Amino acid sequence: MNTDYAAKLEKAKQQQERARERQKAKQSNPEYQAKVKAKAQARASKAVEKKRQKLSDPLYIAEQREKQNQANARRLEKAKEKKPESKPPAARKSGTKIVYRERSTSTDEKRLWDELGQLPCVACLVHGKERYPVSIHHMRRRTVESCHKIVIPLCDWHHDTPAPKEVIESYEWMIPRHAKDSLGGKPAFEAANAKETELMLTAYTMIGRREEALKLLAL
Ligand SMILES: [Zn+2]
Ligand SMILES: [Zn+2]
Repeated sequence: MNTDYAAKLEKAKQQQERARERQKAKQSNPEYQAKVKAKAQARASKAVEKKRQKLSDPLYIAEQREKQNQANARRLEKAKEKKPESKPPAARKSGTKIVYRERSTSTDEKRLWDELGQLPCVACLVHGKERYPVSIHHMRRRTVESCHKIVIPLCDWHHDTPAPKEVIESYEWMIPRHAKDSLGGKPAFEAANAKETELMLTAYTMIGRREEALKLLAL
């Protein structure tokens, strides 16, 4: 072994040893120990307080329950080891009326949906909450021009599924856009949150497409 190298190694070892000793002395200092303990306790009680706050929030509770239900459903589905059946094609309206065909979505529109689909619910955002995932709500009939672009991302509770009662009791704005039973519908949804057109502007602005939204809304 090169002696130079051996000397360097020895020096490094000594340095390490000194550092270990310093650390030992520090750790055996009761003042230091008390400080470490107090820090750990503060961290723990902060975490407990945070959890307590969350547990008193019906929105959080309902979300946790929903997650649990989804996990259970997935487990059940897996246990069955069966692929979910694909939905039968929607029945066509018939009769003497002219039947308009739904517009198909272009690649551009699919890209737009992908971008909007990454956002949190725009109606929840109005109230400072972030809820995922979202689905795409069509503000106009699916037969009119640009119908697949005049859309907003909404969470299930804001879109078509009424939230659990305890959530609505604390968050009276959690009103679905599509009415179910006596809850929801456009006027109630807009009164509780914001106008759909405003929500669309917000969503488009968030994905850097504000100008496009302004043009679409002027149509
Ligand atoms: Zn929402
Ligand atoms: Zn919808």
